[in-house]
Amino acid sequence: MMSDSHPTNINIPPVKDQAKNIVVIGGGVTGVMTAWELSRIGHKVTLVEARSLGSGSSQRSAAAIRAQFSTPSTVRGMRYAIYIYENWCEIVGASESPIRQDGYLFLYSYIHNKREIRDRVAMQNSAGLKEVEWMEPEQIEEKFPYLEITGIIGATWCPKDGFLFPHLIYQDGAEAAKKNGIEVIQNNEAVKAEVSGGKALKVELETGMVLQADYFINATNSWAQLVSGLFGGYDLPIINRRRYLYFLKGLKGNSDDYGLSTDDFVAMPMIITPQGAYCHPDNEQLMMGWLQYTDGVVPDFDNQDDIEPGFEASDMGGYAAAVRKEIANYLFAAAEIGRIEAVTTGFYADTEDHNPLIGFDPNVKNLIHVAGFSGHGLMHAPFSSRIVAELIKAGEDVETIELPGFGNVDLRPYKVSREFRHSEGIVI
Ligand SMILES: Cc1cc2nc3c(=O)[nH]c(=O)nc-3n(C[C@H](O)[C@H](O)[C@H](O)COP(=O)(O)OP(=O)(O)OC[C@H]3O[C@@H](n4cnc5c(N)ncnc54)[C@H](O)[C@@H]3O)c2cc1C
Repeated sequence: MMSDSHPTNINIPPVKDQAKNIVVIGGGVTGVMTAWELSRIGHKVTLVEARSLGSGSSQRSAAAIRAQFSTPSTVRGMRYAIYIYENWCEIVGASESPIRQDGYLFLYSYIHNKREIRDRVAMQNSAGLKEVEWMEPEQIEEKFPYLEITGIIGATWCPKDGFLFPHLIYQDGAEAAKKNGIEVIQNNEAVKAEVSGGKALKVELETGMVLQADYFINATNSWAQLVSGLFGGYDLPIINRRRYLYFLKGLKGNSDDYGLSTDDFVAMPMIITPQGAYCHPDNEQLMMGWLQYTDGVVPDFDNQDDIEPGFEASDMGGYAAAVRKEIANYLFAAAEIGRIEAVTTGFYADTEDHNPLIGFDPNVKNLIHVAGFSGHGLMHAPFSSRIVAELIKAGEDVETIELPGFGNVDLRPYKVSREFRHSEGIVI
């Protein structure tokens, strides 16, 4: 629990005699953090996972975290999330920090409008993200001399952003939640639900176990549409696409000729090219990704690692080569040195506006969805689980919540049945 010395009170008052029985379905980072958040205020929680904790997208992610978003509410929420991860050891009683803050550097070129980006930085500053700044090309050159910046009009830089270690979040988070009394059931898929009068009564697991509850939380992200269907719930507008990560071996220790020393490599931030490709070091390798839009796929527990034709690491005419080429425009060493050794993949549960769906099901009054993270689920988890706790406190959807120390957050952009009008402007 938090000590009084913390500048921010992240605690919600205990629920005492208002404690509810809650079943959380899905044991990724979202489900685990939601179970922890609900249990720390006194709810009685059972967490159900079809396979093992983290076995969905949570263990297949680029695991980056940033507060550089395009609306004040999401900026505040992400500042809150970063705060929780920064103070994780004290908050959950773990021994290892799950965050490394090497920063995010977004590079911009003539295809971007400098004024709009500078306005966005001003908005982020006024939403409390004081650390983000606009950099002119000379400043980029001075701080990151190994980057080739021909054609770059500037960058945004935030040193608070960085990378997460997801296994620490779902493992240590689950241990902390167990200490609060939650039950964790693994290798047992939720396969059926009983609903009466618009209220969910119970779920049945594949082993025949039946769980009754006051509230059911659908934290299954890519599977959320299917799980909503078990309850006769809302047809969640989520499209599951594969996203790929490529791992280039050989830069570390060999790139001095390109101005990239080993120290530079190790300290390299997340770098995003003007066209949306990104890279950062991952131990000995350079991890690289891009925003390719693949066709939607039906998620299956056993097809998560399937690589589609054209996306193999060895296909030098395929996507791997295109990603490397885009990154090499700004990091010359990536063109000349090393070999793409590996590719990994996983599901992105995309929504049309790239914001998650967090709120009550319009048809089933005690079913809450927290899904459709569009590539932001790990970074969102402390924030999204806090929203779920506030929704349970209210017993219905609310338009705003207050995150003490971080300000008000507008929940309408996350409403499950919203119309997709305003897209999140920074998607990678
Ligand atoms: C290549 C790639 C890069 C990414 N990069 C980032 C990034 O940089 N930063 C970031 O924040 N996010 C990133 N993401 C997205 C991030 O991984 C997800 O948003 C996040 O892991 C979602 O976590 P979750 O707990 O909601 O879902 P998951 O981790 O997918 O967990 C859902 C769980 O539900 C379980 N489940 C499904 N159906 C049932 C059922 N019927 N009964 C019981 N259990 C069930 C599944 O087994 C699974 O374990 C990336 C994703 C990919 C694929």
